[in-house]
Amino acid sequence: MKKLNLFIFVFSLSCLIFSSKTMALEIDSAYIVSHYSEIADKIIDYAEKDSSSWTRLSYLCDVFGSRLSGSISLNNAIDWMFEEMKKDGFSNVRKEEVMVPHWVQHNSSTELVFPYKKKIDVLALGGSVPTPNGGISAPVLVVESFEDLQNHKEDAKGKIVVYNFPFDSYGRTFQYRWSGADQASKYGAVGSLIRSLTQDISVIPHTGVMRYMDSVPKIPGGAISPQDAALLGRLQKHGITPILKIKFDTEILPDTISYNVMGEITGSEFPNEIIALGGHTDSWDVGLGAHDNGGGCIATWNAAKTIKELGLKPRRTVRVVQWVNEENGTRGGQAYAEKHKNEKHALVFEFDSGVFEPSVIGFTGDDKMLAILKGMEPLLKKINPDMIVRKGGGGVDIGPMMKLGIPGMSLGTNDEGKYFLYHHSAADTPEKVDPKNLNQCIAAIAIAIYIYADLPDYISTK
Ligand SMILES: [Zn+2]
Repeated sequence: MKKLNLFIFVFSLSCLIFSSKTMALEIDSAYIVSHYSEIADKIIDYAEKDSSSWTRLSYLCDVFGSRLSGSISLNNAIDWMFEEMKKDGFSNVRKEEVMVPHWVQHNSSTELVFPYKKKIDVLALGGSVPTPNGGISAPVLVVESFEDLQNHKEDAKGKIVVYNFPFDSYGRTFQYRWSGADQASKYGAVGSLIRSLTQDISVIPHTGVMRYMDSVPKIPGGAISPQDAALLGRLQKHGITPILKIKFDTEILPDTISYNVMGEITGSEFPNEIIALGGHTDSWDVGLGAHDNGGGCIATWNAAKTIKELGLKPRRTVRVVQWVNEENGTRGGQAYAEKHKNEKHALVFEFDSGVFEPSVIGFTGDDKMLAILKGMEPLLKKINPDMIVRKGGGGVDIGPMMKLGIPGMSLGTNDEGKYFLYHHSAADTPEKVDPKNLNQCIAAIAIAIYIYADLPDYISTK
């Protein structure tokens, strides 16, 4: 009889556990508010008072410098992260090898030689071929768009094409950086310069990745400031054909070894279900990569650290991953997906949108899950009263995992028009990151990640 009682007890207990595991969608947004409000307050309070995050960002940027893929400084920075993650007490801290492209810009210069001599600040775009020894001197054709180039294609032969397009959004103007050189080469141009993707009125150029097709000759591609592009455009309108001399000393070396670096908080109940979050360790070869993306690395890393320091034990494993080579190859994100695709991922999270006041948690996944996550809004509004949770999250590094069907999440920020003043330029330095904003981002990420990792059951892991 006693045995039977015990059996009934164990049986009903297992039914209870089973039903709690399958009550899936009975968890709703109200559940989040009632279960996680207090924890969210603790996270916000902790993050607000923590001055170590900005110091960590400054150390990464100032001590290692710019971190272009293939550089020694990038690998030194990754080694430092590896050691720091161990000191933080994360488990399974490791580096995983990734072969990355190794493009180097030794020196680049541009000079206006007609109608008068003037130095023009320039950066070769990432991946650009070098100019021949001695550089290229050629007359300039200024166009405002690809359509404008098409209309003046007869005039492009033997010229350096300068794209003087207005910068309205990154999405719309990115194509000139990406394929401007090829489009100009199609019509016989010998070089290509873009107006930097920025509304900045200073003379500093902003760089970024370009690519070549194999169907046209590879010509050098660079970026000049909007101010200098506008000058060349005005000269042309005055009936003058300016002459430029461009000299790019760039080199494409064999791929080289770098690493994704990661550490974990092991899940207390479902350790094999993983929430991976991170930013990218690499930057361009100018500036210190503070917003892009040192801040993204530190914010995601210290969000996990905050969860740990507060003694919170999420049900699932929280894995901080700092991906390598987002800027000119996306090899880190691809390598991660390839190596970890058979592990159960509940979520992948990326923060790479500039460290400003957090304004939106974007989510790509099941609509019912999104409705549940909406419950985080009142909690996040304590960081910023306008903060929302909405459909649509993602990023370059988590893209390969999302393609496999894993839900994706990202943090968006309100930059008030500032991000593209710094983006991919010498101006992307730590003092442009407000410590208060960094701590706000850390709080928002920690809340979102902790809740997602801790919900009793809901997630369809693939
Ligand atoms: Zn980035």
